[in-house]
Amino acid sequence: MRSVGNEPLSRHALAFVLAGGRGSRLQELTDKRAKPAVYFGGKSRIIDFALSNAVNSGIRRIAVATQYKAHSLIRHLQGGWNFFRPERNESFDILPASQRVSETMWYVGTADAVYQNVDILEAHGTKYILVLAGDHVYKMDYEIMLKQHVESGADVTVGCLEMPRAESSAFGIMHIDETGLIQSFLEKPADPPPMPGKPDKSLASMGIYVFNSEFLFDELRRDAADPNSAHDFGKDIIPYIVKHGRAIAHQFNDSCVRSGDDPRSYWRDAGTVDAYWGANIDLTDVVPELDLYDRSWPIWTYAEITPPAKFVHDEDGRRGQAVTSLVSGACIISGASLRRSLLFTGVHVNSYANVENAVIMPYVNVGRGARLRNVVIDRGVRIPEGLVVGEDPEFDGKRFRTTENGITLITQSMIDRLGT
Ligand code: ATP
Repeated sequence: MRSVGNEPLSRHALAFVLAGGRGSRLQELTDKRAKPAVYFGGKSRIIDFALSNAVNSGIRRIAVATQYKAHSLIRHLQGGWNFFRPERNESFDILPASQRVSETMWYVGTADAVYQNVDILEAHGTKYILVLAGDHVYKMDYEIMLKQHVESGADVTVGCLEMPRAESSAFGIMHIDETGLIQSFLEKPADPPPMPGKPDKSLASMGIYVFNSEFLFDELRRDAADPNSAHDFGKDIIPYIVKHGRAIAHQFNDSCVRSGDDPRSYWRDAGTVDAYWGANIDLTDVVPELDLYDRSWPIWTYAEITPPAKFVHDEDGRRGQAVTSLVSGACIISGASLRRSLLFTGVHVNSYANVENAVIMPYVNVGRGARLRNVVIDRGVRIPEGLVVGEDPEFDGKRFRTTENGITLITQSMIDRLGT
């Protein structure tokens, strides 16, 4: 392993996690919380994946910039991520936008979120800064990326991956030469350019950047003085370095994860209701692509202490049962049937209910006899007795939010509107 002295590079890096955006493509799921705070996988929030990657890679200095509807996110970070100790050269800074540079400016763009905290980062004095989007679900060893960055002598190293062109317009799209040097970078193009020789694929930025700290600070100061800049990494900083310096791609694949119990790479944006539903439901597969049970790459989180999940007969003797499903603590399944579903903490499913292909967030109550299929249910929703969803998409779309692929998102305010 490449090192500074005898230590891995990760011990000389600070991870700056951007968690201030809404993630508007998740519709009502981000009405009350930022996308990084959205629940994922039964016990976690989306941001836990970037943070766990940092810790599993050996990084011990982390800063998280928050802005949009940050209460739920900050409570989660305080609850689960407060184990860093200054006396061991560790730190965990939560950095809500607080007009530190100008009394009229919140975080304008992603670069501004870092710029407004440059004094804090300088005080940490780490040699490298790893800027991470806190809104993707993935497994990645940043030490491998840091090593490439140092060996290539790049000004910035940009994490990237091939993705279907049709899905890539929400990302920065780049072209690279055979050495990995980035030759062009377009932020969120409406019509993403294809990869040479691969008309259906684009090379997309993962929103993960490694910089030498001093270089980054100089770039941020230059950008802050530019009246034409939106102060955003994807729109301004990276295209500028591509033009005037050396921006090198770090291609994400199986070699970007450490060979532990599960050496497969995994990355999902989970940024639309369909993608979010799919990434969660995939976890119910017998051998899912994302193995949450991999003890060599644990996903740390804040989780309440709860009693075990419970499956009981109802008064008519109907069995409460779940097959091919993940059921979290404090759930009670009473005389109801679940298939291929993922239940977060404290969900109650009552007699005669039938639930299939469902992602159900914490503390939802599913009333007697409800039939729910292909749904995402927001936290705390009370599903009325006998509600049927997933059998008539047109009717579902009139009452709830149904996607083109037939996935229905249900929130409490949609349920409240049913009565009127
Ligand atoms: P959308 O446009 O769908 O609402 P977004 O703003 O959340 O998306 P991106 O612009 O792709 O997403 O942002 C990349 C990352 O930066 C995300 O993790 C997001 O939370 C974060 N982010 C976006 N804007 C800011 C900001 N002004 N301050 C801090 N973090 C931000």
